[in-house]
Amino acid sequence: MDSLPTVLLKPGEADRIVAGHPWVYHSSILRMTAQAGDGELVQVKDHRQRLIGTGFYNSRSKINVRVLDPDRVEVDQQFFEDRIKAAIAVRQRHLPNATSFRVVNAESDFLSGLIVDKYEDVLALQISALGMEKRKDRIVAALQKIFSPRAIIERSDVASRKFEGMEEANGVLVGELSGPVSVNLNGLKFETDLLAGHKTGMYLDQQTSYQAVAQFAKGAQVLDCFSFLGGFGLHAARAGAAHVHLLDQSADAVAASLRNATANGLKDKVSAEAINVFDWFKANASAKPHERVVPRFDLIVLDPPSFTRNRASVPDALRGYKEIHVRALKLLKPGGTLATFCCSHHVHAPLFQDTILSAAYDTRKVLRRVATYAQSPDHPIIPMIPETEYLKGFAFELVR
Ligand code: SAH
Repeated sequence: MDSLPTVLLKPGEADRIVAGHPWVYHSSILRMTAQAGDGELVQVKDHRQRLIGTGFYNSRSKINVRVLDPDRVEVDQQFFEDRIKAAIAVRQRHLPNATSFRVVNAESDFLSGLIVDKYEDVLALQISALGMEKRKDRIVAALQKIFSPRAIIERSDVASRKFEGMEEANGVLVGELSGPVSVNLNGLKFETDLLAGHKTGMYLDQQTSYQAVAQFAKGAQVLDCFSFLGGFGLHAARAGAAHVHLLDQSADAVAASLRNATANGLKDKVSAEAINVFDWFKANASAKPHERVVPRFDLIVLDPPSFTRNRASVPDALRGYKEIHVRALKLLKPGGTLATFCCSHHVHAPLFQDTILSAAYDTRKVLRRVATYAQSPDHPIIPMIPETEYLKGFAFELVR
């Protein structure tokens, strides 16, 4: 192997990397032994010159090095094949029946800056690190060899690319793709526009929770808020709900969710509205003085987008979370279930639960917690890398 430029860390800065966190910030670096090109491999050593890893360097990013391995590695096609196969083995163990899932979840799979989603026979790639971008051909070749997909598309239209000095990118890399893909989740079909949909097309991270929440749906009047393609609602309808009402502000999402209801033979049980959930709640869950809101639902799902992208906006986000919980609790029948999710990394589970309890206090409701949820296992949680844990949820029964 060629010799690599060395990044020497300040005293005390190596521990986190040795423990498994892959990001080296600029402020941790003592000096470099030679100039390294952006996106090129470097070795990282502690202040006593002991090797602690190899990774991609980028002077333009706040994350100066993304460590790939504690030893020296050659980052060739074989490297990507090995990492991807190891990631697939995790999915086969924990999601054995899934045909659509996240194949590579960046840091969770020791490939910082790379996401690969499998939607049946199509793969969607998202690259957010320059080191990965420069090796895109090897990544694509490894994926072709392992999966022989009908198409590989790129959904690198994420704002974070600019922090690495890259433009956004979106398009078909390999094969052909026209029209939506029918994605199978737990035996239900979801029509998905992979080139324009959210994230890389869908929210695969809720695959296991769709199924888990549906157990509360038998005979229920269900309200699915922030429904997107109808993931929670359609699982509930299949599980025997009396009726499901979907709410999403995107008219395209609402139209797609109704097509999905039809495609799954559930159209008679499903209605949907394109509306801002906050406005819908104001119109449907507030009463005039001396009036009472009549509870109408047996199961309410709240799965909003992240209301916060950074720590500073957490207080505003909590106000938003509290408001939808206050309204939802007013519409929930006693004995009914509230399934509620938070996908903000900055709002951890205890803080999220406190917010829900504060809404329960304001509405004089008592809750029984009957389930806790996390992201599906194709988004593995590596506790040493706190950023890999972001999605949490609870199911509460309304005691009174
Ligand atoms: N439950 C969905 C994912 C929800 S993602 C699933 O499992 O697939 C968040 C969704 O909320 C998006 O579809 C977005 O269009 C919608 N949305 C965001 N803000 C909203 C608002 N204020 N009112 C209604 N929908 C909103």
